[in-house]
Amino acid sequence: MTARLEFRRELTTSPTPAERRREILANPGFGKFFTDHMITARWTPERGWHDAVLRPYGPFSLDPATAVFHYAQEIFEGLKAYRHSDGSIWTFRPDVNAARFQRSARRMALPELPVEDFVGALDLLIQTDQDWVPSGGEKSLYLRPFMFASEPFLGVRPAQDVTFAVIASPAASYFAAGVKPVSIWLSEEYTRAAVGGTGAAKCGGNYAASLLAQQEAIENGCDQVVFLDAVERRWVEELGGMNIYFVYDNGLIVTPELTGTILEGVTRAAILELAADLGYKVDERRVDINEWRQGVATGRITEVFACGTAAVVTPVGQLKWRGGQLTIGKGECGPVTARLRQQLLDIQYGRADDTHGWLHRV
Ligand code: PMP
Repeated sequence: MTARLEFRRELTTSPTPAERRREILANPGFGKFFTDHMITARWTPERGWHDAVLRPYGPFSLDPATAVFHYAQEIFEGLKAYRHSDGSIWTFRPDVNAARFQRSARRMALPELPVEDFVGALDLLIQTDQDWVPSGGEKSLYLRPFMFASEPFLGVRPAQDVTFAVIASPAASYFAAGVKPVSIWLSEEYTRAAVGGTGAAKCGGNYAASLLAQQEAIENGCDQVVFLDAVERRWVEELGGMNIYFVYDNGLIVTPELTGTILEGVTRAAILELAADLGYKVDERRVDINEWRQGVATGRITEVFACGTAAVVTPVGQLKWRGGQLTIGKGECGPVTARLRQQLLDIQYGRADDTHGWLHRV
């Protein structure tokens, strides 16, 4: 057992003026503004995790030969801190993100960070920058833990010097003007992940590889891209940054099973349990792209939604591909989607009983 990381504290001498902070929190957008502090820690084979510091937010100075620039040995996480109406601050299942971070680290030959140190780092940063956690209107503080190969060395092997860091960014409600269904582009040329590849890991390379398909989606008037499996080009996997669910007319809710090429979303897992709580039958299995098309045409599939930390639960209004398109239901947010979305938000914002014990008080 290694001892829990001790964080040295170096507080900023020039915090953002309160007035400017309030201005940002009124209209934070996403991923544009950052809080006053960040966390860093270092790993070497000799010393393990050490030199953990809470420090002023600021740039890294990295040697041009730093391995991450060349071989993309990097992983990250994304989760949110929510302010409840009594002012208290909570995160949603941070231990599940910590466990996924460990799995991603293993896949990318990076050192694992103990779950307690991951959660402890988040708590310390949130407590220090607690004035940056917005209140009201489904706003939140988005947390971005990440880890990268910081060794300056051009040899292709796992880095012997690794950096862990956490930054935080206030986030607006994703659907400020009401929940709006997204349109989805079916990527038939590009795939996201191969069997035996890195699809189940949250590593930067997966996102770099998805950008061209996402660009194609935008060019075709769609908001997001959906990927099929890389072998048969037949099974629906997930979106660029969200998992997907199908709602059937007989009360069944289906999401693609975890095959090793899909990211195991924290939201996806919560919805499996919430849907069962609400009396729906839930199934994890493969979904054929033609089952989606025919299911919508025959009315068997009544709703489709995407889910993830950023947008919570997002109705899918349309699917487009080269040579065709279809509208799901009336192209609006369906009742099952709306209900699951509301239930999850109510738990996260402390308006419903947290019967599963998912919330962690910061
Ligand atoms: N799939 C991908 C590829 C993602 O990037 C994300 C966002 N982390 C998700 C699914 C949803 O995961 P979560 O619910 O943990 O945010």
